[in-house]
Amino acid sequence: MQPCIFCRIVERQSPAKFVYEDDLVVAFEDLHPQAPVHLLVVTRKHLPSLNEAKAEDEPLLGRLFTVAARLARERGLEAKGYRTVINSGAWAGQSVIHIHVHVMGGRVFRWPPG
Ligand code: 5GP
Ligand code: ZN
Repeated sequence: MQPCIFCRIVERQSPAKFVYEDDLVVAFEDLHPQAPVHLLVVTRKHLPSLNEAKAEDEPLLGRLFTVAARLARERGLEAKGYRTVINSGAWAGQSVIHIHVHVMGGRVFRWPPG
C-alpha cells in the first residue's frame, strides 16, 4: 500500500519546505497556505488522527504543541496571537489522514471557524 503523503514527506521521499525536525516530529510549510504563516507540525509516527491517540502517545502529543509554540514564537506571532488547529475526521475537514497541527498566523482569525 502506498504510504500517506505525510509519511512520504517525513521519509524525504516527497519534497517539502522543512522548518524544524527532531526525534518525534517534523514541521514544514503548508502547500496551500491559508494565512501569511501556515506551518504543519507532523508526527514521524503514522497516527491517523486524534481518535487513535493512546495514553502512550502523550509525549508525542505534547511535543506537537511545544514545537507549534516554538515555531510561532520564532516567527513573532505570540504578541498578536495565532491559531493552532487539529482537524479530526470528515466533518472537521481532515484531508490528510496523518495527525498534524496547523500553526497559522499573520492575520486575524474569526471564531467560531467555518
Ligand atoms: P487537514 O485538511 O488534513 O487538516 O490539513 C491538511 C493540510 O495539508 C492542508 O492544509 C493541505 O494544504 C496540506 N497539504 C496537503 N498535501 C500536502 C503536501 O503534499 N505538502 C504540503 N506541504 N502540504 C500538504
Ligand atoms: Zn502517514
